[in-house]
Amino acid sequence: MYLPKVGWVKCKGLREDFVGKIKTVTVSHEANLYHAALLIDDGIETVPVCTNTNAIGLDVGVSLVVADSEGGMTKPLDLVHELTRLRVRAQQLSRKKKGSKNRAKAKVKLAKQNLRIANMRKDFLHKLSLQYAENQGIVVVEDLKIKNMTKATKGTVETPAKNASAKRGLNRSITQQSWGLFFELLEYKVKARGGKFVKVDPRHTSQTCNCCGHVSKENRLTQAKFVCTACGHSVNADTNAAKNIRDRGIHGSNASLKIAV
Ligand SMILES: [Zn+2]
Repeated sequence: MYLPKVGWVKCKGLREDFVGKIKTVTVSHEANLYHAALLIDDGIETVPVCTNTNAIGLDVGVSLVVADSEGGMTKPLDLVHELTRLRVRAQQLSRKKKGSKNRAKAKVKLAKQNLRIANMRKDFLHKLSLQYAENQGIVVVEDLKIKNMTKATKGTVETPAKNASAKRGLNRSITQQSWGLFFELLEYKVKARGGKFVKVDPRHTSQTCNCCGHVSKENRLTQAKFVCTACGHSVNADTNAAKNIRDRGIHGSNASLKIAV
């Protein structure tokens, strides 16, 4: 591989106590930029014992919002501006003559914009997962392999999706990639702190009342609101689902159903 003569490169942000503990340096090339990944041995061999018994359930959806069982909501990253720029860069590339120098330049610009968006998304997910890993001893999420993440793009009677079929493909790839990565980051951050990371069966988590255990499609009158037809319990639909997820993680797969019996 060709490597430019860069001489000494100033390393921004490397913690002083890591100096001298670098095991390997991996250099990669992407979007005409060189990236160095440092593998550092921090000397810590055992995972600390976690005394935090706080449990939290997280509900993620097609809308890219994270709802937790404590009632917290994290809005998705606003990438509208960046995605518009990406489309412009792709259009510019398509207009350049094949084999020309300008085409090569436009190609790099498009790759850089793609990388920028990927980095913004990773940064967002790293911060969000760290926040939960630091404050909770047990983190429960849905097993996304079973969950059909694309269902909501079909729209409901109240909120019909515009161009549902066109949006579906894009939605599927973005949400699955993002949440897959989010859970990966969350798992290692939780486990590194001695905590527990649990994946549960996602079936009926959004249709089950967390108060009385009643399961019905009628409980979800709108996308956002949950109103139980059996006990009248009214709550934000995503918060209700997150609570069911948390309870399944603690008590087993039919926890919220057992209460109803
Ligand atoms: Zn109920």
